Amino acid sequence: MKNVLVTGGAGFIGSNFVKMMVEKYPKYNILNLDALTYAGNLENLSDIDTASNYTFVKADVRDREVIEQIFNTQDIDLVVNFAAESHVDRSIDEPEVFLTTNIIGTQVLLDAAKKYWKINPDDKYCKEYKEGVKFLQVSTDEVYGALGETGMFVETMPLMPNSPYSASKASADMIVRVYNETFGLPVNITRCSNNYGPYQFPEKLIPLMINNCMKGKNLPVYGDGMQVRDWLHVSDHCSAIDTVLHKGIDGEVYNVGGNNEKANIEIVKLIINTLGKSENLIKYVKDRPGHDRRYAIDNTKITTELRWEPQYTFEQGMKETIQWYLDNTNWIENIISGDYANYYDRMYMGV
Ligand code: NAD
Repeated sequence: MKNVLVTGGAGFIGSNFVKMMVEKYPKYNILNLDALTYAGNLENLSDIDTASNYTFVKADVRDREVIEQIFNTQDIDLVVNFAAESHVDRSIDEPEVFLTTNIIGTQVLLDAAKKYWKINPDDKYCKEYKEGVKFLQVSTDEVYGALGETGMFVETMPLMPNSPYSASKASADMIVRVYNETFGLPVNITRCSNNYGPYQFPEKLIPLMINNCMKGKNLPVYGDGMQVRDWLHVSDHCSAIDTVLHKGIDGEVYNVGGNNEKANIEIVKLIINTLGKSENLIKYVKDRPGHDRRYAIDNTKITTELRWEPQYTFEQGMKETIQWYLDNTNWIENIISGDYANYYDRMYMGV
């Protein structure tokens, strides 16, 4: 029996993870804490919201009082921290909330874990000695910065972030590391490549292109579209987090990736071809400032030491993902009809 606090569980990856955990571990209590920002959507979780091992609480990870109260009353064993501002373009527009949520929010959670998990029996500030606790920070390969035409990110590389988003995530990684080094808090950090799959907010490349393409709208592609990313299906990311949560060695960082390097323009063309539309829809727009050219992730550590393997090929994952967005147009329309429409017009239509 474990009590698992998942933060940011109403977002894209968090909601996929919460659903997997609720179904896979009926004896775990899954507590989903989310502030429900523009990116948080409880509709993602409607099929499990009456499950007996699932609870939702609307709260902000920066709210120290509430977070401490949760640790005090809920006897938390495991924390998986997804809560974040996650969109690079928005971080260029408005960096501050990225710093407060992604850095301070992480530190508030770490402080609560430190206070209520007595790791060192001699530490007079901790309340209760606990074994088998873990703080898992969900990070990103973007903390490593950009690669040239060759090479791959490995866990020992220095962090060289290039956007306010990746700088905030790199800072959080450093703080998580420090709570392990200085206070002995059992932690892991996972650094994953780009995810795709169901329930991704339509500002991100793949759902944005699928949605526009379905409607015959322009497909805005940054610069020459030759920025390369490694892509992983969200359910493979969730299984990697589950693996690290249960088998990861305390204090270790694990890269997570699918060995699927693709240029953005290749993905856009794959979507166009799958939906039977014309490449004339592609509209090249001014590149994002500081746009990293290439990311590639070496996943040797997690595949050899923890025996994790991705299940999806990129082709199968994309086929299912495109079909999911075709089958769930209501889900996307509910989002698009709100504030997101104004943001989209400002970003891509120059309104
Ligand atoms: P998302 O933007 O879809 O979801 C983020 C969630 O966090 C939302 O539900 C939002 O309401 C919540 N949130 C934001 N601020 C909060 C706050 N102050 N307090 C509580 N909740 C708050 O993001 P995502 O794509 O699901 O990413 C989840 C995590 O995974 C992030 O930490 C991100 O850095 C990391 N990650 C994402 C990717 C990717 O490709 N999407 C890849 C690697 C790592």
